Amino acid sequence: FLQGKRALVTGSTSGIGLAIAKALAAEGAEVVLNGFGEEREIAALCNELGARHVAADLTAPDGIEALMDAAGPVDVLVNNAGMQHVAPVEDFPPDKWDAIIALNLSAAFHTARLAVPHMKARGWGRIISTASAHSLAASPFKSAYVAAKHGLAGLTKVLALELAEHGVTANCISPGYVWTPLVENQIPDTMKSRGMTREQVMNDVLLAGQPTKQFVQPEEVAALAVFLCREEARSITGANYAMDGGWTAK
Ligand code: NAD
Repeated sequence: FLQGKRALVTGSTSGIGLAIAKALAAEGAEVVLNGFGEEREIAALCNELGARHVAADLTAPDGIEALMDAAGPVDVLVNNAGMQHVAPVEDFPPDKWDAIIALNLSAAFHTARLAVPHMKARGWGRIISTASAHSLAASPFKSAYVAAKHGLAGLTKVLALELAEHGVTANCISPGYVWTPLVENQIPDTMKSRGMTREQVMNDVLLAGQPTKQFVQPEEVAALAVFLCREEARSITGANYAMDGGWTAK
């Protein structure tokens, strides 16, 4: 049902973004991939999905302008690229704060401001952002991430209101812990911050807050993203969907 529509998924060489890109391509969208990775693997992915790849660094606004130029007019914008750093606030490196705010929050502003004119002109568009349960609730040692994700949820509400009469919706999907490289890579820092073993971090920190005691799978997030693109979802805008195994229900 997405034949004739172009979808840009930021941070789609791995994890959740990759699952979303695959799901949108399966619905017929022309997909533009973005993110870092091994050249050969990315070429194989492009081949598999009939997609193009633009390797812009989204922490810099000029990187985002280059990406949007290379992508061309976009009908479905998925703001997904993100990163994490785990440290007590007094030890939190200021450059990590700046980079996380730039990638997890400001990048979504820049992609949206550049994508919206085409969406308005076409009278149809979908802006979907991968926020996080951390857009709804906090955890210690994640000051930049929690601040950026709360900001992303706020930006989404503003976009929803501004675009409400133009056939363009803006929504967030807010997963709990999804088993991706982003989660796996934060285990060593959490071990250090909390003085725990790997198993303790997995069971007592990551899955402790997730009542299902299971990681969300990237494909579950992708399925919701696809639904938000459907005509049946045209009245869903400004929403922030928790997909967190019950975490934020507590
Ligand atoms: P991941 O680390 O597997 O993938 C991140 C993607 O972003 C990769 O494609 C990477 O190349 C790209 N990327 C990183 N820095 C970039 C930059 N500067 N410019 C452009 N691209 C860049 O991560 P993931 O777990 O799939 O996370 C995707 C999104 O989902 C993030 O926004 C993350 O905050 C959010 N999220 C993840 C979880 C989880 O448990 N994994 C939970 C909630 C929210």
